[in-house]
Amino acid sequence: MEKVTEYFGSMVFDERVMKATLSEKVYKSLKRTIDRGTPLDISVANVVAAAMKDWAIEKGATHYTHWFQPMTGVTAEKHDSFITPAPDGRVIMEFSGKELVKGEPDASSFPSGGLRATFEARGYTAWDPTSYAFIKDGTLYIPTAFCSYTGEALDKKVPLLRSMEALNKQAMRVLKLFGNESVRSVRCSVGPEQEYFLVDREMWKKRKDLIMTGRTLFGAMPPKGQEMEDHYFGSIKSRVAEYMADLDKELWKLGILAKTKHNEVAPAQHELAPIYKTTNIAADHNQLTMEVMKKVAERHGLVCLLHEKPFEGVNGSGKHNNWSISTDTGINLLSPGETPYENAQFLLFLTAVIKAVDDYQDLLRLSVATAGNDHRLGANEAPPAIISIFLGDELTAILEAIEADKPYGGTAKEKMKLGVDVLPQFSKDTTDRNRTSPFAFTGNKFEFRMLGSSNSISCANIHLNAAVAEVLRQFADKLESANDFNKALHELIKKTIKEHKRIIFNGNGYDDAWVKEAEKRGLSNLRTTADCMPKICDKKNVEMLTSHGIFTEAEIYSRCDIMLENYVKSVNIEAQTMVDMARKEIIPAVAKFASDTASAVAVKKSVAKAACKYETKLVTELSELIDAMDEATTELESTISGLKEIGEIIPESEFVRDKMIPAMDKLRAAADKAETITAEDYYPFPAYDKLLFGV
Ligand code: ADP
Ligand code: MG
Repeated sequence: MEKVTEYFGSMVFDERVMKATLSEKVYKSLKRTIDRGTPLDISVANVVAAAMKDWAIEKGATHYTHWFQPMTGVTAEKHDSFITPAPDGRVIMEFSGKELVKGEPDASSFPSGGLRATFEARGYTAWDPTSYAFIKDGTLYIPTAFCSYTGEALDKKVPLLRSMEALNKQAMRVLKLFGNESVRSVRCSVGPEQEYFLVDREMWKKRKDLIMTGRTLFGAMPPKGQEMEDHYFGSIKSRVAEYMADLDKELWKLGILAKTKHNEVAPAQHELAPIYKTTNIAADHNQLTMEVMKKVAERHGLVCLLHEKPFEGVNGSGKHNNWSISTDTGINLLSPGETPYENAQFLLFLTAVIKAVDDYQDLLRLSVATAGNDHRLGANEAPPAIISIFLGDELTAILEAIEADKPYGGTAKEKMKLGVDVLPQFSKDTTDRNRTSPFAFTGNKFEFRMLGSSNSISCANIHLNAAVAEVLRQFADKLESANDFNKALHELIKKTIKEHKRIIFNGNGYDDAWVKEAEKRGLSNLRTTADCMPKICDKKNVEMLTSHGIFTEAEIYSRCDIMLENYVKSVNIEAQTMVDMARKEIIPAVAKFASDTASAVAVKKSVAKAACKYETKLVTELSELIDAMDEATTELESTISGLKEIGEIIPESEFVRDKMIPAMDKLRAAADKAETITAEDYYPFPAYDKLLFGV
């Protein structure tokens, strides 16, 4: 057996390979580009490209591709082979620095929200040297950013990198004030925990809804759901264990630090968590992880479902975005630290995050909004659509003491003064096991738990980084101009706590009482994508995002359009699939069962003079449900044609929310009821019990 330590990263053009294949001078120059973003000279790029190509060919690669993350939410690639004709009729394998650094895909079909005029459809991809190239399926993959010719971001990577830079810039200003002279940069790291379902491939093939939309659009609850909670952390079945082992191996080869795996709450649900990484790498790796998860599943006769809500009535899948900020010298700025000096700095960063989350609740909420995730947020399983922060008892008590100018924990005799001199000692808070909070402090990081399992983590981190950068900017402005730093610091922290404590909530986020309480506190509760997405265009959000150079105004409007279009299209496809399944599969099947039963009644009555009370009741009930299904399908069909007539994206999204989704729910209710009284043999596709317990 090969050793993990030997094959880990074997498909990655990482530092080891760079050192081994590049001259010291070229390596150093490339490192400067990676670490500090200094532009790469074309002569250096040529050498790097040649080394990459030789290494890739050695590993069996024949092609290369620029790999990017357009607004579709999935990654895109176009493969070119290395071949170049030689004069004698043979070919040689070539890859130039220019090809490495820049690509020009014909990208006219990617969503641009009107950013790219059709006459200039190309757009270009630019190498992101901070994310290593890698080999997958015989192709050298080059992580790239994707822009229009006029420089507008058409992807999720460009704004993510911009947001990281904005956060770096403002955090550096704050750190300077605390006298940190040796720190050269601040970066944010993310560890995304990824949830997923596995179902049997043969069963999957029989369900149009799973094939077309990634989730079941019909299906009555099985006799056993997740109420026993025996699946969570339960022993892993051998078929699943084999899948997980294979998955780990594939991810490790790609240099992805897959670390933890376990069963989740719902039957057939599992989780994989990597060790955290710098955010843009974590984002690339998470996209890759999702792709590899699906691919490896095929080999095992399985299908990996990444949809947020594959099964009604069963827990959906999310992605926990564990986020922290740290210095290049290795200090985690969200770690409470050992000394008062560190505490003051920590408290400033902590309150900055608190204010950022409160000020930009809407941006965080909409960063995770999709048709799929709307099924989780607001239901009693995932954090509600209301943003709040869990801090734990100790930190909350400290903040309360600071706000009230009272001693903390009764130890200090004097009033607590913040600054670098007098501060309470506090231990790292380890109390967090609150699983219901959308944004929880977990000792030295925040865990943003609202992300849907299929979301790119980029959007959430763009908005989070931007919001925190904005608050740090405000803080730095204030503190830089203060005469007495300690006094100003104390007042700033105190004021921030007072103004933003409404966002702190340590209780049960799944409780209905919280919804009322949150409303009293004035927190926003944006239940659907249609409700929250337009808020990205609110003046305060546009001002903030543009002032930090995260987005241009045009990029913001285009993104809003693209995300709403996504929402409308996804739901519309679901509606069409439902109509198709109802008309061609479910109604005929139930009707056949009803008529077979009715014929039996006729025979029994004439032959045996039986009363046939049961069968008569059944046929009556079935007939009623068939009518109900037919009526609901007709209604749904009319919403599908109604949508076509609107022509503007915001009214379309509202129509989907107010008319189409309720019509879908109505059809489903009738069909699911019919399923429970239809003999299994008649039903046209595998039911929930088979799907959920069939692996
Ligand atoms: P949980 O109890 O939620 O499972 P873990 O400690 O296992 O918590 O962490 C979950 C994820 O958080 C992992 O991906 C881990 O690498 C990541 N993580 C841990 N520390 C940090 C940090 N300082 N910054 C960002 N992510 C982190
Ligand atoms: Mg977690």
